[in-house]
Amino acid sequence: MKENNQIRIRKPCHIFFRNNLRKLWLSVAEKKLGYLQYIEKEIFTSSGFGADHRLDKLAFSVRREIEKVEALFDNTICMCTLCAKTNRNMIYTKHPLFKTKKWLCVKCAGDI
Ligand SMILES: [Zn+2]
Repeated sequence: MKENNQIRIRKPCHIFFRNNLRKLWLSVAEKKLGYLQYIEKEIFTSSGFGADHRLDKLAFSVRREIEKVEALFDNTICMCTLCAKTNRNMIYTKHPLFKTKKWLCVKCAGDI
């Protein structure tokens, strides 16, 4: 991978298509996250939590799944890590605020 990878789209029809795909992907991920958090809440509020070993294992696996989805939000090209904009061209680059490279919009990457 190059030092800084920029995905630049210029044609308005491609920008429209890209933005809608990003919205779709993010809405699916948000729905999944909401569903998993609902399940986790139901497990924690159930009477068997802490007493039933199977319920504890299920809570642990749901928590791991939630962390995976949250990590996707943090590392996706669909959304700028700093400003959360979804409708800009993105650059995979290093920012002083983060230890590793992140996807940033061209405006935030330009402010470095
Ligand atoms: Zn940004």
